[in-house]
Amino acid sequence: MKSLFDTVNALSKRQLCDRCLGRQFGRLGTGTTDEERGRTIKLFLAMTEEYGEVEGVQSRFLHAGGEEKDCALCKGLFNELNKFVDLVVDALSDHEFETFLIGSVVDEEILERESGLQKEFALASHAEGIKNELNREIGIRVFERLEKEASFERPDIVAVVDTRFDTVTLQVAPIFIYGRYLKFDRTIPQTIWNCKRCRGRGCEYCNHTGKIYQTSVQELIGDAFLKETGGTRHLFHGMGREDIDARMLGNGRPFILEISNPKRRLLDLERMREMVNTSASGRVEIYNLRYTNRDNVSRIKNEKAEKTYRAEVEFEDDVGPEKIDELIRKFSGTLIHQRTPARVSHRRSDLIREKKVININCELQKGKRAAFTIRGESGLYIKELIHGDEGRTQPSISDFLGTGCKVASLDVLAVHYE
Ligand SMILES: [Zn+2]
Ligand SMILES: [Zn+2]
Repeated sequence: MKSLFDTVNALSKRQLCDRCLGRQFGRLGTGTTDEERGRTIKLFLAMTEEYGEVEGVQSRFLHAGGEEKDCALCKGLFNELNKFVDLVVDALSDHEFETFLIGSVVDEEILERESGLQKEFALASHAEGIKNELNREIGIRVFERLEKEASFERPDIVAVVDTRFDTVTLQVAPIFIYGRYLKFDRTIPQTIWNCKRCRGRGCEYCNHTGKIYQTSVQELIGDAFLKETGGTRHLFHGMGREDIDARMLGNGRPFILEISNPKRRLLDLERMREMVNTSASGRVEIYNLRYTNRDNVSRIKNEKAEKTYRAEVEFEDDVGPEKIDELIRKFSGTLIHQRTPARVSHRRSDLIREKKVININCELQKGKRAAFTIRGESGLYIKELIHGDEGRTQPSISDFLGTGCKVASLDVLAVHYE
């Protein structure tokens, strides 16, 4: 193995600027910059020449802090540092953020020269890459200018500087807002429902809206956030979903709203709540808003929360109170076998699920009607439990009562999740 002195002495023939020389030893010695490290190596070699140990050092070297544009490796790339910083600061100027990270794209020729040099002189074990140095030096200057923290973990914005074309691309992290929603409108779905014929582009069938339903819980909440943040789109992650014709009442359903590419991230959530509740009045209401992160999206989507429903049911024949009492005793705590309902079979695989009725209550009303309150395991299909789905759900309330049952209306009263 060559000595360090032999290596730096050999490298000194290669017309490297301070940074490019220092960077080849970037992992040796801490608490300094590549520029200082390179200058120190040059100084030391100049001293050994004066001492009489080596010859021709000065002539083979760029002077410390000298002409970087003559550097055989970077061709003066670091002379442009302040320009890159200006570009980044400018690109960030209309974005709100707390933390950032710098990335860079560097000319392939420079990268090849660097890896060739590192191979030739066996520098790989202690050298740093040019992009690392570039990112760090730009990052330090941006930090000084804007007083924002650089962060490797979940930065709000990554600014990628393309040093070949002097452009900056921003990768803006989405924001995630947790809340609970109530839905009072029996005509709107939870999320945007694109037209199947045109896949959202707009056609005759969908009246050129691209959508089957005019609006949704997602849009009634998300559009206000999109406007306020200047983001590009919203995604809606609910803890399950209710049928379009079912209301969501009581304590509401947990959701996470995701906003892509927000320009403003720090919202007054109380004001947002009021804004949404005013504009969506009578249809949707939200509360309990707070900021959250991506990790909680899958947590919310996979949570198996029990739900309590209220169903207004019409019987074909008269049903007596004794039979209802018997039904309550029989169904509370019972496991229901449900083959995937016909109405959802286009989007769910056909299989038999076993879900428990936790408890059930029933209030008989006049004229062959009753109001059921049913608490069930996550995934229990309530309409099918009641009407039996032509034998696909067993046991069913309809079979037990021996009469046809029609669900006149369905509401979710509670999603049992704190
Ligand atoms: Zn250089
Ligand atoms: Zn269409």
